[in-house]
Amino acid sequence: MPSVKDSVLGLLGLATTNLAHVLPTVRQSPQLASRNIDDFYFPSGAGACSESQMDAINEWIDDVTDILIPAALDALDAYTPNTAQTLMALLGVEYDVILNEPKDKDELATIKRWFDEAHSFLDGKLVGTDYDHDKAWIFCGDNYQEHKSVNDVAYNTEGEALKDDDGEDVRIWQVPEYAAKLSQGRVPVWIPDVNAYRFARSGDFLPGTPGTECTAARAFVYTVSRNLIIDVCTSGKEGGLFEFGSSDVIDGVEVTEHQLIDRLRSQSVILLHETFHAIRPWDNDHAKNSHQCYSLAISDRSKAQASPECLALFAAAMYFQTNSQDDEKWVFWRLYAEHQDDAWGDLAKSPAA
Ligand SMILES: [Zn+2]
Repeated sequence: MPSVKDSVLGLLGLATTNLAHVLPTVRQSPQLASRNIDDFYFPSGAGACSESQMDAINEWIDDVTDILIPAALDALDAYTPNTAQTLMALLGVEYDVILNEPKDKDELATIKRWFDEAHSFLDGKLVGTDYDHDKAWIFCGDNYQEHKSVNDVAYNTEGEALKDDDGEDVRIWQVPEYAAKLSQGRVPVWIPDVNAYRFARSGDFLPGTPGTECTAARAFVYTVSRNLIIDVCTSGKEGGLFEFGSSDVIDGVEVTEHQLIDRLRSQSVILLHETFHAIRPWDNDHAKNSHQCYSLAISDRSKAQASPECLALFAAAMYFQTNSQDDEKWVFWRLYAEHQDDAWGDLAKSPAA
């Protein structure tokens, strides 16, 4: 049983110096399936990924399809009280303690469908009819994006300069479709290889300084001319996606008692987050961390259940719940890692409302 002091520390999320538990390596061999990475387009010019970046992306795709998503789906199927408590905390799925089932089974079915669709997407199936191609693009870094002025020559989807009837160059502002975007205060950005303009919000960039988008994100997703693009940042905050941390889900993340689930957010979990954007590009980040998920789970649970971050953190929690060493089952009822027995002890003292 945890002492009162321990419980308070847990709620505050203060790191303790308890034993560190290192998970066993799950991947059996370094052989990388080329199946998944072939399911994407990669640019050959600006924005191309290096060989080591490609290897890393390949591993993350494998992690997500073979480990994270199955961990979430298996847990949703089994629906143990541990899973139910975490589902309630992160996604607002209400739990009937007497019947041991969700109060609204449709909510559970919808969440399962998001994970199924994320898996299909990473297996190369673009869901829906929103795209002209059956594959998404993966770019590395954000320096490939060419900032254009409204007076620059406009290009067509073959990357050729547009001409008017007199053979004169057409400017970006003269193309009605583009002019409509400009009138909304958007900034034209040319995407090479895809041969399309992206009309970014001016806040996404400091005009004339490519590379600024990756300072605010480790990865991001957008659509351009019915193409879906996943951008994996190579530089920026916290060293960027490729350099970030030395641990990921597969190499063994250290879990310590009272550790916030957000701190177990590996590169693979980030890719899963972006994958949820990819299957629902119209959906925004309603929650950006577990505490925001927790608030949303109470105030507007349908938004929590559609939030990429809340879904991705749930998958991470289920991974640690089911893959921890036998004598050390971790649960995340309160968003922080707790020993399963401790969590049950607290429940006995104060039953979940
Ligand atoms: Zn996001």
